[in-house]
Amino acid sequence: MRIHVDLSFFPDYLISIITDSIEVKQFLIKDNYVTDKDKDNINTISAVFEFHGSIKEFEGQLTSILLKNSIKEYVIAQDMEKENTIAILKSGDLRQLGILVCDFCGALFHSEDEKYIHQRAHYFY
Ligand SMILES: [Zn+2]
Repeated sequence: MRIHVDLSFFPDYLISIITDSIEVKQFLIKDNYVTDKDKDNINTISAVFEFHGSIKEFEGQLTSILLKNSIKEYVIAQDMEKENTIAILKSGDLRQLGILVCDFCGALFHSEDEKYIHQRAHYFY
């Protein structure tokens, strides 16, 4: 499965900690940084990985890399609006960026409505 990791909000000097880590280095598609414009015309930078597991497992790998390197101010979240996309975000900046995070699973949303609809589903499990 091809997974995009949105690094737009992650500082340049920390990117190599992710891309050179033993956990995910082997999955990185070399030199494949995608610069793109999102719907608000903001440049996004993402690294692309070819991972042979679920997106949840990949999220777990990224989380352990951050923990191992004591990078506590960043969180890993799945972008529900883009397919197979994980974003690394500064936890304090989420509100300012207009990003909302599910209280249960950490999934990421761009509006209160979406978050509400998604969170409701958790009550049924
Ligand atoms: Zn959730």
